[in-house]
Amino acid sequence: MTPPTLDSLDWLRPNLLGSTKMVGVMGWPVEHSVSPPMHNAAFRHLGLDWAYVPLPVRPAEMPEAVAGLRALGFVGANATVPHKRMLYDLVDELTPAARAIGAANTLHIRPKGLLGHNTDAAGFQRALREADMPPEGRHALVLGAGGAARAVVCALATSAASVTILNRTPEKAEILADAMSAAPASASIEAGPLDRKTLSRYATRADLVVNTTPLGMWPQVERSPWPQDLPYPREASCYDLVYNPRQTQLLRQAQAAGAAISDGLGMLVHQGAEAFELWTQQPAPVEVMRAACEAVLDT
Ligand code: NAP
Repeated sequence: MTPPTLDSLDWLRPNLLGSTKMVGVMGWPVEHSVSPPMHNAAFRHLGLDWAYVPLPVRPAEMPEAVAGLRALGFVGANATVPHKRMLYDLVDELTPAARAIGAANTLHIRPKGLLGHNTDAAGFQRALREADMPPEGRHALVLGAGGAARAVVCALATSAASVTILNRTPEKAEILADAMSAAPASASIEAGPLDRKTLSRYATRADLVVNTTPLGMWPQVERSPWPQDLPYPREASCYDLVYNPRQTQLLRQAQAAGAAISDGLGMLVHQGAEAFELWTQQPAPVEVMRAACEAVLDT
């Protein structure tokens, strides 16, 4: 394959004019984010005079950064690690999704005030359906209990039959299970430690496994939350939130067992598409956004 050149990535770059509407992503660090090319490709495709920029923001400087975006006339922004909880606390109003998850990954700056939204749960739901892994009636095993797990459990709580959260620090899994059980949920929600014994006990009845830990993500590419000597259950579809690299060790284990698999690119694209739609009030060109992510991740 010919390596991409700066020219061949031109379709991912913003066009900036005096009239350009601005959005961006606040993170620390933020230089590896694929959100700028994903959104800029979408703006270009639709001929919109918008641009999306990376915004490196130190955690202690989030209040100034959010006030600065408002002063500079930005339409909105995304927040990524470690800012989602802080953004939640800084806005004037929260959507029901942000309130349920307890974190905000999207900011909409409107004349009447700052709106905090969370698109991760909806993005995960859309990605599961696209991967042909509908959650309805499933017994889901969620590995990890951090920020992404909150969105995943929130999405599963109203559709799956049961959700079991397993985490390295089991107390955090219990806190998350308690918080999500208090919300309107149809699934029974349990918690436990992420260890071989507990995994092997739940593996027999799981039919959906979701990895929300960074194990498998660059640079931990050889690691997996599933022990090598524990057979992966063939009947359990495997959704890994990691998308860099796209083929993780966990997905290789699940695929070798004959299970259906999906990487986290779908969730990334769909959470971005929902933010795009909130800001622009236009349907997002999902396939263009996916192609932009693939172009960047393959370089
Ligand atoms: P986070 O809040 O820091 O949570 C990380 C979770 O992983 C915690 O439960 C942590 O357990 C666990 N963990 C970390 N290192 C571990 C290890 N060595 N062994 C076992 N467990 C470990 O991070 P996050 O925001 O939830 O993100 C997690 C992953 O999801 C990242 O890879 C991120 O890129 C991905 N993600 C993808 C999307 C997408 O759109 N596809 C969206 C959001 C996040 P402890 O509680 O014990 O520390």
